[in-house]
Amino acid sequence: MNKTVPFTLEQAQAWRDRFGTPFYVYDESAIRKTVSDVQKAFSWNKGFCECFAVKATPTPAIIRLLASMGCGTDCASISELAISKASGLSGRRIVLTSNETSDDTYRSAVELGAIVNLDDITQIDVLEKAAGIPDTVCLRVNPGSFSFTSGIMGNLQDSKFGLTKDQLFEAYSILKKKNVKHFGLHCMAASCCMDGTYYPLLAEMLFNLVVEIKEKLGIQIEIVDFGGGVGIPYRETEKAVDILSVGAKVKEVYDSILVPQGMEVAIYTEMGRFITGPHGYLVTSVRGFKHIYKEYVGLDATACDLIRPAMYGAYHHITVLGKENAPKDTTVDVVGGLCENNDKFAIDRALPNVDYGDILVIHDAGAHGRSMGYNYNGMLRCGELLMDGKGEVKLIRRSESLDDLFSTFDVDSEFNY
Ligand SMILES: *Cc1c(COP(=O)(O)O)cnc(C)c1O
Repeated sequence: MNKTVPFTLEQAQAWRDRFGTPFYVYDESAIRKTVSDVQKAFSWNKGFCECFAVKATPTPAIIRLLASMGCGTDCASISELAISKASGLSGRRIVLTSNETSDDTYRSAVELGAIVNLDDITQIDVLEKAAGIPDTVCLRVNPGSFSFTSGIMGNLQDSKFGLTKDQLFEAYSILKKKNVKHFGLHCMAASCCMDGTYYPLLAEMLFNLVVEIKEKLGIQIEIVDFGGGVGIPYRETEKAVDILSVGAKVKEVYDSILVPQGMEVAIYTEMGRFITGPHGYLVTSVRGFKHIYKEYVGLDATACDLIRPAMYGAYHHITVLGKENAPKDTTVDVVGGLCENNDKFAIDRALPNVDYGDILVIHDAGAHGRSMGYNYNGMLRCGELLMDGKGEVKLIRRSESLDDLFSTFDVDSEFNY
């Protein structure tokens, strides 16, 4: 996939004058297009809902935008539930998929009418004591093995998530005895999967389980949740997943397994990366050079703004704005200023000749980007802009200030900094 930037150098310079760099900018029209593609792909399924994984981009303006298009959220914490609530969501538009969950988090989910998705059989008791057992409960299965072991999540038997299949059956029958009326089944078996057969294969496994659960326990599953995990092309050599064809293949599986049984389920997806990942850009300025054993280009952004390269060695494409057509005749490490040698956005990257003050755009940062930010070295996390169809931006999260940093310290108001 050819990597282009949906704004010009002049626009980025004007934004830098107003807000300073670094900042994130999200392309609203492109997010809308992706959401409507996903909805089109599953339009054949009556109850379909994309419950966006809040952790990918936990900014209310983004969640509100998605909610206005009919999306819900998948939450892992009380904060993500609060962001969903503040964005106008409630009820079955919210899924709580959480681990080592606090009582407060369960209570908050039940108060919101959210679908509670339990990660372990022991959580039935924990939920009951904390909040009572709600009408609707979902269970997360870990099938142990699955044809997709690729991606960041790795081998499922090494994955901490979900119930074994035996525990799943036992948990459903316990929940039935506790008068649960509506049941969901959830599985997320891959991360950043670029293969379009992932959801169809997952659907086959889950729909067969739905039939088996009906036969063995007399329980009709109403919601089948595929989780997230659909990948995006970080590299120019990769091809985007064709979500329309994925939806059509899932329909074939649905028609062959559930329809003959006279069964209907609502399909939920919890894509995060696929929805916003390609449509967010980290915009940063060049502030230094080094010529030592290697060549370095230093930025005003650090791993505190985007940790994926440091954490997973993840590739993020980089454009030097205004030099898109210049020959890439230097090879450099692109680094931030943290006191950590893994604070590198790229290693041995071919780039055009870069000058002080040039604006670099780091692509595919719209998911698991700003949200994984942190304050190491006292770095203040950067702000976020939302760009509309006319190329106008709105500040949807300001950058952090020293006041924000000091707000959690035990110092009195007279303290001078
Ligand atoms: C992380 C996560 C997602 C979203 O994953 P993406 O790779 O961003 O699509 C969805 N559901 C659950 C339970 C997750 O943990």
